[in-house]
Amino acid sequence: MEQPGQPEVEVRRSTRRTRTVSAFREAGRVVVVIPARMTRADERTWVATMLERLAASEARRRPSSADLVIRAGELSRRYLAGRATPTSIRWVSTMRSRWGSCTPKDGSIRISDRVQGMPGYVLDYVVVHELAHLLVGGHGPDFWALLEGYPRVERARGFLEGVAASAGLSLEECAEPPGERDVAGAGEDG
Ligand SMILES: [Zn+2]
Repeated sequence: MEQPGQPEVEVRRSTRRTRTVSAFREAGRVVVVIPARMTRADERTWVATMLERLAASEARRRPSSADLVIRAGELSRRYLAGRATPTSIRWVSTMRSRWGSCTPKDGSIRISDRVQGMPGYVLDYVVVHELAHLLVGGHGPDFWALLEGYPRVERARGFLEGVAASAGLSLEECAEPPGERDVAGAGEDG
């Protein structure tokens, strides 16, 4: 799940900065902000350092498949009284039009690897959402009532909407079971 090769880097020189260097992702690039008067040699060193630091901090935030199984179990116990018991939950990289999907018939859940690296409360929301679908299909009042115990539903949904909007994506929140509906018509997972 690592990014292929080096990311595209944009170096911004800031006249307001005298010593601090920072790096963040923006629109698919890594932006490194450095003091305006930094030398080219220092720039190269700092860009390499900041890319390493960014990769390390993102790796810490990126749970593995095993982590996902453990997390799903904890979330089910905490927010759904342990009633949702998925037979499998895994990351998929082929979902292009949704954050998550599930198949209530066989109890399997898939989470888009786009959610990897997002804040923990967002991942937890996507997982709880799919867990709840193992109990209730569709997005009616009884579905949302199940999610009432999870405290950051609105915040997480806002985060996902913001990511989708800034990336120009029209992502469905999830596949609405049991219809196997795929509005965007692309990238069904296997
Ligand atoms: Zn849903």
